[in-house]
Amino acid sequence: MAANTFSGNGSFPFWREPLDAQQIPHLSTSITIFPDLCKGCGYCVEFCPAQVLATSDRLNAKGYHPPEVVKPEACTGCQFCMRVCPEYAIIVEKKLEVPT
Ligand code: SF4
Ligand code: SF4
Repeated sequence: MAANTFSGNGSFPFWREPLDAQQIPHLSTSITIFPDLCKGCGYCVEFCPAQVLATSDRLNAKGYHPPEVVKPEACTGCQFCMRVCPEYAIIVEKKLEVPT
């Protein structure tokens, strides 16, 4: 396969690192969970497209199992978990960071 064609899994194999790689901003995400607001519905875990969240073993003040972040590096910042949570128990913040 030629080096500049798409592979079957959709990735694009660059043949060299871009010259301005140090100036390209990267998306940084921050997931904050407020465990005691959670009612254990599991929507956030079920609908996260990147399987970033999982149901934790711990119990919150209401006796439910809140989610926990298990794959933070996989978070795309889509904020879907934040939008589907009926209790506003998750906040996802994202910002662009330039590598130093
Ligand atoms: S922002 Fe998107 S990818 Fe990240 S944890 Fe929430 S649903 Fe998953
Ligand atoms: S969607 Fe909200 S209430 Fe439901 S399990 Fe996730 S954090 Fe808890």
